[in-house]
Amino acid sequence: MYGTVWHDGHFKPYEGAHAPIFSHSICYASSVYEGIRAYEGKIFELEAHLKRLRRSADIFHHSLPYDDQTLKGVAEQLLRTNNLPDGYVKVQIYYGDEDTGFSGRGCTSHILISAIPKPKFPHTKPFSLAKADWRRPSAQCHPYTAKTSSTYALSFLSFRKRPDWADDVLFTSEEDVISESSGANVFFVRGTQLYTPKIDMCLDGITRRVVREQIARHAGIETFETDIHWDDVSSFDGCFLCGTAVEIREVSRIGEHFFMACPQVELIAQIYNQIVRTPHTGG
Ligand code: PMP
Repeated sequence: MYGTVWHDGHFKPYEGAHAPIFSHSICYASSVYEGIRAYEGKIFELEAHLKRLRRSADIFHHSLPYDDQTLKGVAEQLLRTNNLPDGYVKVQIYYGDEDTGFSGRGCTSHILISAIPKPKFPHTKPFSLAKADWRRPSAQCHPYTAKTSSTYALSFLSFRKRPDWADDVLFTSEEDVISESSGANVFFVRGTQLYTPKIDMCLDGITRRVVREQIARHAGIETFETDIHWDDVSSFDGCFLCGTAVEIREVSRIGEHFFMACPQVELIAQIYNQIVRTPHTGG
């Protein structure tokens, strides 16, 4: 179904890769992962993804006994074997079932790498975002520095409950400060400036870094990390989501506020589409 995968050091058909039903990660949300995109056979920002994977693995006490060169070789091989030059590489690290208690002592870490077709979005029109019906816990209550399955419990619950008109949800803190969508970071545009929430309550997104450090700098756009209150949304000219899967996705509506088409977002999306296909930006 998903072609060839690499499981604990071996290439095998997806159907032959199994995780135990008592996997600590299934029971207690202790897996960490990365979703990485390839464009025309070049893996985009692989080093940054592997760096974040190691940080996530450390936070969740996983062992990862493979060096970056090995993981890179595996990812490239899977893209070739599965014939997916524009594929999506998923790297998952999860625990086995040696301990059925939550502390997971003695559980061994396992790794699965797959290359699957890139996620398809139903349309290319701008997204409408509703406020998520769950609030994001503060940085003291959730390990945002890890890309972990536990983050996605709230994404799943809120996304499923979004109103019919909404393509995605936007999370806020209990104080109504905006954090991110169910699976992407958010930027707001005002004139020639970009504003994005601080990363204490959202993922330190790699696309977000690319926007700040490569695109905005290159385009002479200033960026600011700051608290953005839900009530401040109407003070901006435009908005977009960014992430490996959604890439740069313009937002035309947040709650009851509608944005006009924003030329700055179009420019950022254009530059992004160019740099993902530029060989030297690949990891
Ligand atoms: N926030 C969340 C919750 C995400 O799932 C993602 C996608 N990985 C992002 C932000 C964007 O991160 P990146 O640009 O590294 O894909």
